[in-house]
This record gives sequence, structure tokens and C-alpha cells, in this order.
Amino acid sequence: MNVGVVGAGIVGLAVAREVARSCEATVTVLDKEDHVGAHQTGHNSGVVHAGIYYQPGSLKARLCREGVALLRQYCAEHRIPYDEVGKLVVASTAAERPGLRAIAERARANGVPGIAELDALGLREVEPHTVGVAAVHSPHTAIADFPAVARRLAQDVTETGGSVLLSHPVRALRETASGVEVLAGRRRLAFDRLIVCAGLGTDTVARMAGAVGDVRIVPFRGEYYALAGASKDLVRGLIYPVPDPRYPFLGVHLTRRIDGEVLVGPNAVMALALEGYSWSDIDLTDLRRILAWKGTRRLAAKHWRTGVREVLGSMAKGSFLAAARRYVPELTRADLVRTTGGVRAQAVAGDGSMLDDFAIDVHGRVVLVRNAPSPAATSSLAIARHIVGLTSVLTR
Ligand SMILES: Cc1cc2nc3c(=O)[nH]c(=O)nc-3n(C[C@H](O)[C@H](O)[C@H](O)COP(=O)(O)OP(=O)(O)OC[C@H]3O[C@@H](n4cnc5c(N)ncnc54)[C@H](O)[C@@H]3O)c2cc1C
Repeated sequence: MNVGVVGAGIVGLAVAREVARSCEATVTVLDKEDHVGAHQTGHNSGVVHAGIYYQPGSLKARLCREGVALLRQYCAEHRIPYDEVGKLVVASTAAERPGLRAIAERARANGVPGIAELDALGLREVEPHTVGVAAVHSPHTAIADFPAVARRLAQDVTETGGSVLLSHPVRALRETASGVEVLAGRRRLAFDRLIVCAGLGTDTVARMAGAVGDVRIVPFRGEYYALAGASKDLVRGLIYPVPDPRYPFLGVHLTRRIDGEVLVGPNAVMALALEGYSWSDIDLTDLRRILAWKGTRRLAAKHWRTGVREVLGSMAKGSFLAAARRYVPELTRADLVRTTGGVRAQAVAGDGSMLDDFAIDVHGRVVLVRNAPSPAATSSLAIARHIVGLTSVLTR
């Protein structure tokens, strides 16, 4: 069998490796960029989520827990940096206590190990410079080098006889009686099956496959500041707010990264292009499509207040500082320096709701990963098994 995978992000590469290992298939990965992990995989917080937040029984809950175990083992086998720095979810007011308790219950329901509920003193034992009225501690939440994982997965693919074709944008595709023909760059390729893990490019490839569906990708940029100099020492691990249950985003947090940097962010602002990494990245074709989608308009109508607040905050260092000082009051304005951000590929349904769970569709001989936002980097190896486990996909 000859299988094509669109997207050399961590999900596409994990899927390609799994297909090559377990289906004895020849795999070709296609990506439009000149290096692997060029988009979400290379622009995220680097947190290996333990599975705290997700609806019990959902794909996210299951594949995150499975994914953590697989990723920990994979990183150990390949000597990829992985560190269980631990995470605190901190309530800073009494009003946040019920939300915090719900988080602890959910984490236990999802089988997250070592969850502890801490009071104001207990949380300072874990993070001495952090304040709050209470916290949930997840000691096994980790950080890892996701781009290094992606590079190693690409090596696995090529070592098992597959190919990773970079600078090969998929420009057209067509299902035939026996398979799928793909025009990638200047090459015409034929596959028995095609698996699309294109992140921000999902809708474009879905349109080519005639599988538009009732969801669209809306790009939400996440902007970050980094802590400068000695202020990095004020944070040992990961410090998160109690999330607003109305949104799939976790709120601005403090994140120690595997390279020793400490990030403050990300916020969530709608980007003006699918790959809109800054306010000056505007693509009118993308923007027209995003705004023409009824789901975007309904989402905006429901959440415009939060949207306006996020946009104003995006411009102002003060709003990141305020978010960080809520947990680490010793931080000052001079401690925060702007750094690069990422763009989330978030699927939005026609009714304006943001898809909470991972979503995978099978359309003839094409498998489409429709929604793989956080914690998809954490879950990538388990998502790959799940897709291959949809055995009808690879045997029909
Ligand atoms: C700000 C931010 C913070 C995050 N934090 C975390 C975190 O801490 N932990 C976590 O687990 N997850 C986190 N995530 C989510 C995580 O990064 C993503 O879920 C994951 O990287 C998705 O991987 P992917 O392979 O699906 O997508 P991507 O890495 O975006 O890869 C998609 C690939 O498809 C390619 N492509 C698109 N269109 C085409 C085309 N037409 N032809 C060829 N190639 C194409 C792109 O070039 C790209 O390389 C975060 C995401 C963001 C943006």
C-alpha cells in the first residue's frame, strides 16, 4: 500500500511513522515548507499536558493520557529533552475555588497521577514566588522539545523506507477509482490513501478533496513575552490560571521551556491570515473566507467583548504583565520582553461553537484531521495510533 500524508508537523509525522510501522505501507509526507514543524509544532508552549482539563471520555482525554506515556518513552529512547517540571493551576480569589475544584475532579476522572489540592502555603512550597488562595498541583506535567520530536519522527519515516518531501505544497488532488492523485509542487503523485494533517491549511486541502464539511479553521494567534535575566528564576515550572470554561484556551500562563526560557502567554486573538504571526500579516483571501464563514460571525457575536479585550491586550505589554503579576507579583515591566508567538488552527462549527475535541473525518480514500489543537502535540503518537486503528481507513 502507498500512503500519502499532507503535513510535516508533529501529527502528520507521527501518523506517517505509525502507518509505516504497522501497515507495511510505503509512506510519503508532503509539506509546503522547507523544514519540518514549521507552524504550530514549532510555535507552541512546549508543555506535555497531563490530561487535566478534558471532558472525561473525550478523544482529547483518552489520547492525551495515552500520548503522554508514548511521548515520555519516545523521548527517553531517542534522548530528546523531556522534563517533569510539574504544574500548578492557581486560584487567585475565593471566587475561583469552585472552578479549581472542578479541575481537580476532572483530572482524577481522567486518571492523571499525583494530583494534589494545595492551600496558599502548600503552593508556595512548590513555587516559592507564586501567590494564590489555593492550587491544584500536577507533578508529572512536563516540558519537551516538540520540534526535536518532529525531526526524529521524520528520520524514523525515512529510515523505514518512506520519504519526507519538503517544499512540496499540495496544490490539487483528485480521487480516482483506485486511489488519490496529488499535485504537490511540480510533481504528480499517486496514493492508495491520503491522510491530511495540514493544521492551518486543513480547509484548503479539504476543499481540494471535495470535503468542505460544516467546520472551518479559524486562526487564533497566541502571543508571548519571555522573562529576561534573573526574573526567570522566579518560576520553577508551569503556573496556570483557572481556565474560563467557555473557551478551549487555557489563559495566559507562565511556562518554563526546555531551553531554560520562561514564557508569559499565550493570549488568543483572531489572526488576519491563516499564518498570521503578527498584526502586519494580512491575507485578504484568507480573511474574506474566515469572515464569510457563518461560524466566525456567530462566534464573534457571542464573544465580542472578550475579543475586543484580547485585541486591546495584544497591543499592551501591561496586560501581559498584569496577568503574570497576578501569580508572580515580584515581576516588573522590565522583566518582560516580546518574543515570537504561534497561530492555533481552531475548528469552528457553523453554529459558532469552537470544536472542543479532536476531530477526524474519513471521506472516501481521504482521512482529514479537522481539529488538532492543544494538546495535539502531547497526544501526537496516540492520535497516530488512533488513526491507524480506524482500520477500515487503511484496508478498504
Ligand atoms: C500558541 C500555541 C501554544 C500551544 N501549546 C501547546 C502545548 O503546550 N502543548 C501541546 O500539546 N500543544 C500545544 N499547542 C498545540 C500544538 O502545537 C498543535 O496541536 C500541534 O502542533 C498540531 O500539529 P499538526 O502537525 O497538526 O500541525 P502543524 O504543526 O501546524 O503542521 C501542519 C503542517 O501542514 C503543512 N501544510 C499545510 N497546508 C499544506 C499544503 N497545502 N501542502 C503541504 N503542506 C501543508 C504546514 O506547512 C505544516 O507544516 C499549542 C499551539 C499553539 C499555536
